[in-house]
Amino acid sequence: MITTQDVGGVHIKYLYHCRRQLWLYLRGIRPEHLSATVQLGEAVHDTSYNRNSPVDLGAARLDFLDGHHWVHEVKSSTRPTAADAAQGRHYCHRLHHLGIDVKGAVLHYPKTRRTQRHLYTPEAAQLAEADIADVLTVAAAATSPDCLARSRCHGCSFTDYCWTE
Ligand code: SF4
Repeated sequence: MITTQDVGGVHIKYLYHCRRQLWLYLRGIRPEHLSATVQLGEAVHDTSYNRNSPVDLGAARLDFLDGHHWVHEVKSSTRPTAADAAQGRHYCHRLHHLGIDVKGAVLHYPKTRRTQRHLYTPEAAQLAEADIADVLTVAAAATSPDCLARSRCHGCSFTDYCWTE
């Protein structure tokens, strides 16, 4: 069973996108290698910001931490999402608990040359705690959460699993 310390960035991303996706992922189903969306994400990641080394926090792995203690995350999408902000917040929270005076997260969108800055505040810390608790709640559910509306499944690597009759 997953514990608080095991909750990572992927869990947070799926929590915000689709709780069913999170539940399936937690049960070891991994169709990501079939997903063009994920491959694109990896390609953008490899070509855009490879000058810095990722920071491995065990369950969480962020793109890099600069000298001023800002977390940097590179995104393959064109526009910011709540999931992106939540992931950045989660990484800040992990670093904070490792004793690092983290300032916040900078989200990079190379396709549209945009960046977003999110301060790590006491409110952000509370949200990060709530997100971890939500992941554990989904993990403990005996049955899978319902599917989203089909229109919201675009690009999800579990589409075949959820929508094949
Ligand atoms: S296909 Fe849709 S319902 Fe199924 S996990 Fe993905 S987003 Fe959720």
